[in-house]
Amino acid sequence: MKPAAFDYHRADNLQHACELLSSSGDDSKILAGGQTLIAMMNFRLARPKVLIDVSNIADGNQVLDEDGGIRIRATTVQRFVENSESVQQRFPLLCHAIEHVAHFQIRNKGTIGGNLVNADPASELPAMSLAFDAEFDIISVAGRRTVSASEFFVTYYTTVVAPNEVLSSIRFAEPPKNSGWGFHEVARRAGDYALAGSSAIVTLDAAGKCTRARIALFGVAATPVRATAAEDVLIGEAYSEDLLKASARSVQSILDPESDVHVTADYRRSVAEVLTVRALNDAFRRAKAVQ
Ligand SMILES: Cc1cc2nc3c(=O)[nH]c(=O)nc-3n(C[C@H](O)[C@H](O)[C@H](O)COP(=O)(O)OP(=O)(O)OC[C@H]3O[C@@H](n4cnc5c(N)ncnc54)[C@H](O)[C@@H]3O)c2cc1C
Repeated sequence: MKPAAFDYHRADNLQHACELLSSSGDDSKILAGGQTLIAMMNFRLARPKVLIDVSNIADGNQVLDEDGGIRIRATTVQRFVENSESVQQRFPLLCHAIEHVAHFQIRNKGTIGGNLVNADPASELPAMSLAFDAEFDIISVAGRRTVSASEFFVTYYTTVVAPNEVLSSIRFAEPPKNSGWGFHEVARRAGDYALAGSSAIVTLDAAGKCTRARIALFGVAATPVRATAAEDVLIGEAYSEDLLKASARSVQSILDPESDVHVTADYRRSVAEVLTVRALNDAFRRAKAVQ
């Protein structure tokens, strides 16, 4: 299939992209890596009248170390983040999750911002934004606003980014020192979108008791899900198999998966619980190792 006719503009920078969006109307779209948008256009599932290309702006790939976190420019390709030494050292969970996004050829083109704005509920990165208390910097000709990860995702393929806005950068907060992480997903083939997945970060005190926890799941609802009730089960407790099972069981109440041609909703529910136990197991093990 070929896409419907469209006009094409190349933006010099993100501010320029905002100006082009503002003058082009609501039928215009940002083109980043094109890994999702171009396929949608070829199938005529998307018919934007105007494309505003941000894939060639100066310094498009940027990972900035900040006190207590990192800021990633939205136009940064996923592979650049995966290969960043700073991200590998400070955010190993984020690197590990990105390795599960499609294939490296796609990650060489696909951007962090495009993935997050696309908001596929089975995507790994939206869940990472919840796990790392991310903040989204959104700009338009009217100014700038910051939105937390818990407010960013609205429903399937929908975020709070308005048609006249551009996602500029995302700030990921670094977990405390005595933290460990875990990540597990089930997909039909390597590189496919996950059928379900779970990630965990736990922080332990000197006695091995959990002082902070983050559990974020994907592929199990219309948006990525942070399981705060399951996190609360862990606080003040030391590792035990029963504790992890109790925490993972409480994930069930907030899941709202769909059945599709691949698997049933019940399958997603039960796999999500199992994956959460595994993610927590790894997180506790890694947290103990860095004490
Ligand atoms: C075969 C295949 C397998 C894949 N598997 C996975 C997977 O396992 N996990 C996964 O997470 N993803 C997967 N993807 C998707 C991939 O990660 C894409 O890169 C991503 O979804 C879109 O990023 P992009 O930069 O290509 O965005 P584009 O396709 O260019 O844009 C996607 C959408 O985001 C909007 N947009 C992009 N950037 C901005 C911005 N800065 N501000 C505002 N709006 C913006 C666009 O207008 C468009 O609506 C897969 C893709 C393919 C083709």
